[in-house]
Amino acid sequence: MNKSFTPYNRILMGPGPSNVHPQVLKALSKPALGHLDPQFIELMDEIKSLLKYTFKTENEATFVLSGPGSLGMEACLVNLVQSGDKVIVCVGGYFANRMTQIVEKIGGHVVVVKETWGRAIDPQKLEDTLKQNPDAKVVAFVHAETSTGALSNIKTLAEIVHKFGALVIADTVTSLGAVEIQIDKWQIDASYSCSQKGLSCVAGMSPITFSPRAIDYIKNRKIPVQSWFNDLNLLLSYWNGPGKRAYHHTAPSNQFYGLHEALLLLKEEGIENSWRRHKENSVKLVSRLKDIGLEPLVPENERIPNLLTIKIPDGVDEAKIRMELLKKHNLEIGAGLGELAGKVWRIGLMGYNSNEKMIEFCVNSLKDVIG
Ligand SMILES: *Cc1c(COP(=O)(O)O)cnc(C)c1O
Repeated sequence: MNKSFTPYNRILMGPGPSNVHPQVLKALSKPALGHLDPQFIELMDEIKSLLKYTFKTENEATFVLSGPGSLGMEACLVNLVQSGDKVIVCVGGYFANRMTQIVEKIGGHVVVVKETWGRAIDPQKLEDTLKQNPDAKVVAFVHAETSTGALSNIKTLAEIVHKFGALVIADTVTSLGAVEIQIDKWQIDASYSCSQKGLSCVAGMSPITFSPRAIDYIKNRKIPVQSWFNDLNLLLSYWNGPGKRAYHHTAPSNQFYGLHEALLLLKEEGIENSWRRHKENSVKLVSRLKDIGLEPLVPENERIPNLLTIKIPDGVDEAKIRMELLKKHNLEIGAGLGELAGKVWRIGLMGYNSNEKMIEFCVNSLKDVIG
């Protein structure tokens, strides 16, 4: 006989998903609402306002896509890139590389600023590339490259781009809620994130924001947006404007309750406090890992505070250690991705999990299984 599914209560300390806050789990089980119910529209407006707070923006086009971070990535690119456009992508890891694949599918011409995996993007390299390609329409980069653990200075990168007039797209999938992001001050034209990393919510939602300049650009495109689901003109008729909203797709009401609760928790803590907590706990984790002989891959001032890459010590079977952590301690950490497969572990201290108890638990479990 088939029966109800009962998941293990894992401790999720990989690159995401992270553990869901108990209050968020509770919110998910409330009664469903129709996607055009007046009360649901109110909830959508609340989510927009909480996301503006989280992204530090006044952008009216700030809302959530019903899909994972990758959908947000595609939405930003498909709306701002037209076939034939030149697009500069700063690539120092797996996720930025995915951006280049999407641009190619749209028919854009990709110019790559190549960075070493595990290092922040060098602003000088971007400036040199822009000088050689002043006709680039869009520049895209990843804030926190989860595949390597490197955090780039997107404030500086955006400043450089603005000297050349291109539109700026920033991936904030891992950083939102955990690392300082200033969409308006830093003049980021479009950014997307996810629900299951820094926000401690379930996977499957992508917070997204577009500047008035980006919206203006989209409205005046010559080629229609090459996606139906992600066409911002259609999405905004569901998300924006006073009074009646038009059906676009059936929004997942229960997931939205969860996201709303997660954003509320972040606002209650204060976003600046959350940034500080992630930074402080990252420093503690690094120091405790050094005590047991483990070294971070990324130089100190380029590290993502909520996602640490640790070098695998010589002679250690990294996959075996991860399996033992899972079996013996119910603890999940991440493996290396792409170029760093087999070379690093990835440890997430995200949102709800970024606290001293979790640091001790993780370090003691690692110490136990490595021996
Ligand atoms: C996780 C991640 C993504 C993809 O998000 P999904 O929710 O898995 O689709 C994109 N970019 C970065 C930097 C990520 O860490």
